[in-house]
Amino acid sequence: MRVAVYPGTFDPITNGHIDIIARSARMFDRVIVALAVNSAKHTLFSEEERFALAAESLQAHANVEVKRCSGLIVEFAAAEGALAIVRGLRAVTDFEYEMQMALMNRKLREEISTIFMMPNERYSYLNSTIIRELSRYDADVKEFVPDCVVRALRAKRGKE
Ligand code: ADP
Repeated sequence: MRVAVYPGTFDPITNGHIDIIARSARMFDRVIVALAVNSAKHTLFSEEERFALAAESLQAHANVEVKRCSGLIVEFAAAEGALAIVRGLRAVTDFEYEMQMALMNRKLREEISTIFMMPNERYSYLNSTIIRELSRYDADVKEFVPDCVVRALRAKRGKE
């Protein structure tokens, strides 16, 4: 069975992430979305919220599962029997950081390869930070995120 891991913060999950996950799910038997927990990043959504939003958004993909990952991604991937780590590349600006991570991960675990995929160009300028920012100013984000995320962003705003 060919397993891939797709790691990220998913604060919150966007259609760009889902595009990459859907592409991966067609190539691998199983895709595990590894939700980073205990990261130094301050997030808008709690770990539980990020998990629930990702799980709900990916319900339609039978071979995709969301799991929490608190340690090194290569160790998580090895424990899951994965042969690849999938990352999305949106623009050249992503490249340097991603290359550094991929090479370091390969040094740690030679048998696990990093695979890069480009999303549909509709999503190539999208990231979670922009979504959070747009939502803060009441902009309409429904073109970029699943419905459950639209609702969750609205609920967060209501509480501010
Ligand atoms: P991280 O904190 O690891 O950057 P993110 O949740 O921001 O976590 O992103 C996880 C992965 O998804 C990364 O590989 C990132 O490049 C990719 N990604 C983020 N937004 C998009 C998008 N709009 N299209 C394609 N890939 C994306």
